Parts: sequence; C-alpha cells; structure tokens
Amino acid sequence: MKLQLNKVKKEYKMSQGNTFKALRGVDVSFESGELVSIIGESGSGKSTLMNLIGGLDSDFEGEILLNGNNIRTFSKKQLDKYRKNNIGFVFQSFNLIPHLSVLDNVTIAMTLSNISKKERINRATDLLKEVGLKDHLNKKPNQLSGGQMQRVAIARALINDPDIILADEPTGALDSKTSEQILTIIKRIAQKDKLVIMVTHSNKVASISSRVVTIADGLIISDEINYEVEKLSSEETKFNKEKQNLSFLNSLKLAFHNMKEKKARNLLVALGSSIGIMSVVLMLSLGLGVKDYINTTIKGFANPLVAEVNIKVDENESPFGSPNSRLFTEEDITILQNIDKVVSLEKGYSINSFTNNNMIYNNQEINVSALTTISSNITLENVKQGSFPNRGEILINEAFERRTNENMVGKEITLSLTINNQVKTIDVVISGYHGSTNSDVGTGNTQVYMHLEDLEELFDEVPTTVVYLVTNSISDTEFVKSEINRLGYTGSLQELILSAFNEILDVITYALAAVSSISLIVSAIMILVVLYISVVERTKEIGVLKAIGARSKDIKRIFSAEAFLIGLLSGLIGITVTNILAIFINKFIYSLYEFNIVNVTIEYMLFGVLVSILVSVISGLYPASKAAKLDPVESLRRE
Ligand code: ADP
Ligand code: MG
Repeated sequence: MKLQLNKVKKEYKMSQGNTFKALRGVDVSFESGELVSIIGESGSGKSTLMNLIGGLDSDFEGEILLNGNNIRTFSKKQLDKYRKNNIGFVFQSFNLIPHLSVLDNVTIAMTLSNISKKERINRATDLLKEVGLKDHLNKKPNQLSGGQMQRVAIARALINDPDIILADEPTGALDSKTSEQILTIIKRIAQKDKLVIMVTHSNKVASISSRVVTIADGLIISDEINYEVEKLSSEETKFNKEKQNLSFLNSLKLAFHNMKEKKARNLLVALGSSIGIMSVVLMLSLGLGVKDYINTTIKGFANPLVAEVNIKVDENESPFGSPNSRLFTEEDITILQNIDKVVSLEKGYSINSFTNNNMIYNNQEINVSALTTISSNITLENVKQGSFPNRGEILINEAFERRTNENMVGKEITLSLTINNQVKTIDVVISGYHGSTNSDVGTGNTQVYMHLEDLEELFDEVPTTVVYLVTNSISDTEFVKSEINRLGYTGSLQELILSAFNEILDVITYALAAVSSISLIVSAIMILVVLYISVVERTKEIGVLKAIGARSKDIKRIFSAEAFLIGLLSGLIGITVTNILAIFINKFIYSLYEFNIVNVTIEYMLFGVLVSILVSVISGLYPASKAAKLDPVESLRRE
C-alpha cells in the first residue's frame, strides 16, 4: 500500500473574500508498515493535512493518491467507502459516543456496514481484548479513564481493518505513563503492516516513531527516517468489506439507543403529539358511532320499500297535526298514484295530539301523543315484543309502560278517540310493542298504531293525513322520494330529522377535523424542534460517525428512524388514550341512550398510527437532512 501526496495545497476561505493558505504544496509519500510522526507548531497545518488524507475534506488542490487513485476525484459514495474501509481515525479528545457502550462504540462502524451481529461482536471483542479492555465491554465511556477511552477509540479505528490509521495528537490528553501504553499499542498496529500517521507535540512520541515529518507554515521542512519497523506476522482474520450499508433495522436500533438517552423529552413529545392523533381517531370513531346510531334507530323504523308522503306544512305552522294543515284530496291521490315506479298507494291517518286521544286501562286515562294507522311502512321488524297486530289489535310503544308500571303486551284496553269532533271508544288488545326510538320512550311520547279499517268502522269519515307509496326496490323508493319533493309534498318526519341530523353531523365532523389538523401541525412543529435540537446536541457525534464512514444517507436514516419511533410512540399513545376515552364516553352515553356512540375500529387505530408516523417522519425530514449535510471537519472541531 502506498500513499502519495503531490503538491497538496489547501486554502481556507475567510470573510470578505480573503483566503488563508493552510497547506502550500506538500509533497510526501508513505508506505504501509511506517509509524510516522508529524510535528510542527500549532497552526502549521498538521490537522488540515490529516483531514485531507482522511477524506473528511476533499476541497484541495494537488493529488492524494492511494495506490495510484486520486481521492480528490472520488465521488461522495467512493469517499464514504474510502473513509469506512481504508481509514481509521483516532482523535485527541477520543470522541466516543457517550450513550453507547464500549462494545457498541467499537461495533458501530461495522453496523454502518450492516455486518452480522455475531461477526461484529466477535471482532470488536477481539480488538478490545487486544487493547486490554476485555473486562470493560459493557461500560459507558464516562465510566472509563482517559487512557481507557483512547484504547476504545483505537479499537474502533481498527474495526474495519483499515490500511491507514490517522491519529491527531492521540496522547495529547493523557498523562505520560498512559501515553506510553497507548504508544505501545499504536506501534503494534504499524508492526502489523499498517500505515500509522500521528500528529504530536511530544518529542517522546516522535522519538519512538520510525519517521518524523516536520511541518511549518503549510510546508514540509524536514523528513527523517529513524528506523524501520519490524514486521510481526499477523494472523489477522480477513473479512468481507464489501457489505451493504446501514440497514433500516440497525438504524432503528441506533435511534432507539439515542432516544433512551433523552427518555423524558421524547416521551413528552410523543405525549404531546399524541393529542392530535387522539382527536383524529376519536372524531372518526364518533362520526361512525353517530352514523350507526342514526341507521339503527331512525332509518330502522321505515320499510325501505315504502315512501311516506305528507302535505307540506307552511313554515309558520306547526308540523304536529295542526288542525289548519290541509288534508289529502282525491286530486292529490291521483297525482301520487301516477308517479313512476309506484306499485301501490296506501292511505293513512296519523295525528299528534295532547287531548283528543286517550287510552283507558284500569280506570287510568293515559294520553296518546301519536296515533298512526298501520301500513306497509310497519313490518314485523318493527315489533319489539309480542306479535304483529290483527284487526282489533294495536301496537303501542314502551312509553306506556312507564305510566302503568306493567308490561302491556296482551292486555285489553279501551281507546277513546276523537276525529272531526266525533268521539268514539273501542276495546282493543295490545298485540305487542313497537320498537320506537328510545328518546320517544324517554320523553314519554306515547304512540299507538292501529288498523285503518278499525278506524273506518268506528267513524263516519277518516281523513287522509298521510299517504304511503310502495315500490319494488330501494332505488325506486329513492326515485319516488325525490318525485314527492318535486311535486311539492314532503317525506316522513324522520327523514326531515335525518337530513337535519346529517347536516349537523357534517358540521361537527368538519369542525373536529379542523381542530385535529391544527393539533397535528402543532405536533409536527414540536417534533421538528426536538429533532433539530437533537441534531445540534449531537453535532460532534455526527462528525465522528462520518469520520468512521457513515454516509450522509446513513445519518439521515438514523434521524429519520428517530422521527419514525417518535411517531410510532405517539400514535400508540394516541390510540390507547382514545380507547380509554371511548370506554368512558360510551359508558356515559349508554346510560342515556343505550348506545355506544364512539366506535373505535381497528382500521381507525391503524390509520391513526400511520398518520402519526407520517406526520413525524415528514417533520423529521428537515432535521435529518440538516444532520446529513453537516461538515464532518466542522462538526469534529465542535466541543
Ligand atoms: P495544526 O493542527 O497544525 O495546529 P490546523 O491544520 O488545524 O493546524 O490549522 C492550520 C491553519 O489553518 C491555522 O492557522 C488555522 O487557524 C487555519 N484553519 C484551520 N481550519 C480553518 C478553517 N475552517 N477556516 C479558516 N482557517 C482555518
Ligand atoms: Mg491540530
């Protein structure tokens, strides 16, 4: 292996267009098996040279040739590979990643290459044994002494079996005894036929080197060879360097490690952003629950093949059986009968009244709030208890039971009815309960359903207040309903309520959607800020990762994985809270309406988690790309 530098010049751009010439034409070449010390005064350009050789900075003039290949012409990808596979960095300030264990600090470079866990651990353990740390594998860097930390850094530099080890003042922060031990280790690396280049201030360090290069003002002023390093036969296990890059799973694991460091912070962010998800899922579930409620209650009472027709009431008149409202005439009947798709027409009588109609049972007189004739609109499905009424029998709703305090099914009662000022009584049997809405029962709205024929037998004339149009299919019914409206009639009261309800429901749903999306934006900003702070805090770490061969893509992936995990966590918290809330809300609503108003489906929960992850990952894009773009030299200089 040969490393050759030809006329290497480096200029730093200063403010106001000035430049500073840090290297002014360096010509030098190195070979494997050399232990080189670079000495020179502070500011002479030693670190600059190391960064260029290490591929951390490719903005220079001249050539740096590794076995004849100029690294200046390398693509980004080739440069990442070069750093990962050909270079091992050792820094003065160790630059270990504080939240990773000793073992993980060493294996991380291999993790970036997606080498199998077993191989990573075996190799890292071997190297750590070699530098004398076999008893400290699971310690965190802050539990180690300076010398021990530098040993870890050396093991890390060696993990990918590089050709060149670059050490910038490796003993600068160590006492003399520890320095000696570190130097022994470094010397052994050179003996294994690697090129070791170290920057030093210390004469002692220089004296053990096989070659000393002195640099002043960006130029090499002397280059002395002291001795030749004797080679040790190395039984180094060769391994496949051409592995793929950081896997998604490993980036998740790294991200998880990072996040554990700031547990409280990440948990709080997830908690905060879960509110948005919770409100979205809750809104959807509520919407569904309400829809179900409408379907099973209001719609459930109408035969889908029957369209109910009422005379349109003037706006300022009460729809509740106002005596002034017009009755159906023969002309109306003819018009309605001639509507396309109508199979048959049934006349009916339906009246709401507070005084006219009463039920007499056990000498108790109970007002009948609503009297309706039985038509095709009432089927066996509407019978909640008991049987469908024959002639002389009626259906009532359960509201009566509240008044009599006994089950009325099968009971014989007397009805006292008034039509056109004619008062009649009739004895009938209650065949069953009509399953009317619970709210009717709750408000005490008493309802009686009886046969038109029974009424007609009783009275001289029964006016037609309602007409039922029977069709053959649901779509025909829809058509007939629109025709009814076009001709100036209205449908059933339930339909009016239903459409009003739907309008309100839409408004509520949109309002909730707006609120939820605002909270999602808040979550997004929160996650963005937290990840951004995390990037700033870990600038140095990012520099280290880049120095040991992480591609920009890998860095991006680690931060995106963090965003993913925050999103996942907040999604899970969100749906958990939603479910808990749903239990309480349902309990409360059920006590009033016997219905579960919040219907949290698996689909909604999945949707919530996915939205949460999506929002989080999108928010993480900016911080992640910011991290990926950090300049490694700059980042490493950061303390
Ligand atoms: P050494 O490691 O020998 O102490 P460096 O290589 O770090 O010196 O720096 C060489 C010269 O280049 C110094 O004068 C330093 O101020 C300058 N320098 C280093 N980095 C930058 C930079 N990013 N921008 C401007 N000047 C720089
Ligand atoms: Mg320096």
